[in-house]
Amino acid sequence: MSDTLQISIGPKITPNDFFLRLKELGVSRGAVIHPSISAGQPLGEHLTAFDELIRGSAGYSDHEAVFFMADAETNCLYFVFVHNTSRGMAQGGTRFLGYPTMGDMLFDGLRLSRAMTEKNSVAQIWWGGGKAIICPIDGHKNVDSDRRKRIFENYGKFVASLNGVYVAAEDMNTTPEDMQTILSQNRFVTCLPKSAGGSSNPSPWTAGGVFQAMLASVKFAEPDVPFKDKTVLVQGVGNVGSTIARLAYAAGATVLVADPYQPAVDQILKELPGTKAVATDAIFDVDCDIFAPSARGGVIGPDEVGKLRCKYVIGAANNQLVDDVAQSEALAARGIWYLPDFFINRMGIVNCANEQYGYLEDDLEAAVKKIYDDVLWLLEEARKEGKTPYEVAIMQARKLTTESHPIMGHRGLRIIKDLLDRY
Ligand code: NAD
Repeated sequence: MSDTLQISIGPKITPNDFFLRLKELGVSRGAVIHPSISAGQPLGEHLTAFDELIRGSAGYSDHEAVFFMADAETNCLYFVFVHNTSRGMAQGGTRFLGYPTMGDMLFDGLRLSRAMTEKNSVAQIWWGGGKAIICPIDGHKNVDSDRRKRIFENYGKFVASLNGVYVAAEDMNTTPEDMQTILSQNRFVTCLPKSAGGSSNPSPWTAGGVFQAMLASVKFAEPDVPFKDKTVLVQGVGNVGSTIARLAYAAGATVLVADPYQPAVDQILKELPGTKAVATDAIFDVDCDIFAPSARGGVIGPDEVGKLRCKYVIGAANNQLVDDVAQSEALAARGIWYLPDFFINRMGIVNCANEQYGYLEDDLEAAVKKIYDDVLWLLEEARKEGKTPYEVAIMQARKLTTESHPIMGHRGLRIIKDLLDRY
């Protein structure tokens, strides 16, 4: 192990410069481990400044470990964020994405990984929370198929080296086929194609869960109003949003869609006659009952709360609020029902969570229906306790996170310690 390296790494450094600095220093991998697990000795080479950057990042929130690797063969950074492994090994999607700065990447990874702990806990599945990012230092857009294959193979080797503490899944810009490439290198991956015995694309199930949350919320808040009288504005009609639009339409609601990708909009307008398109920068200029953010996170910050012209915010995107506590309170103060994303978009992970036990659609149908009942419970609790749905959901998530896996206990911690001992 080399001596501590003091390198000037701040949140504004680009992934490319970070990668080059590591190369200069001869560092290929490292980790930041929670002090309660190791008394400050990081895995691999010491990177004090990087250690501080991670611990200081918004969203660090007591992560058990963050592992990274700079892969010189493919010019990619691999990051694995392990938030909490009490309920099981850390599971969450692997994003394939370029970022403008390391600060942006860490913010995304840390926050999403914590949200996975919350999501897996409220879904009551026996997985902990984690997330991973594959960041090509020249961006993710122009990666040809050969390089892509090598990236996912090498990333698969990296995940294998973590001995199961993180289990990969599909996420932004990744496919079941990419998961199969990871499987060629390790056994710690889900969301495999059906042809490989997997659960494949979870999006229709995610959409189904979000739609159940819409039905339950309207039933709770306006029991005498039929859902068909509602107008649903879907932001982002990709894999999930397009199915939300179809489900809302089939239930008789008026549907509005906004997406910068015109073919996706055209497809929905053709399929669902009467549906209207809204310009992506005009989503706050139209009235609707339900606003369904289903494109990306961070859509509602302090400025947007006052601009919303809806009664409900119920969508699929992760981390819809810039600041969960502040904006969920501000939305409630405006009389807008915000359904916490991690509580209702969980079907993506539920779909693949039990893949190793075989895939049964009946399980998924029951899990989708459970979201309807859980949302009624959540809104009733919030009313009884005088809290926002977000507060109740997060309290429930934290309570369930303290439960250890009934058979394996908090095994992830033992694995992290074991990895440290082997370095
Ligand atoms: P996707 O990439 O298939 O679709 C996203 C769509 O959003 C694209 O059509 C894109 O053009 C559009 N978009 C981008 N910027 C936009 C903007 N400013 N305004 C309107 N539309 C915009 O992604 P997806 O799989 O449908 O996932 C959507 C969201 O739901 C993501 O935030 C994802 O993390 C989250 N999510 C997805 C799943 C799942 O099962 N796929 C599960 C949980 C959460």
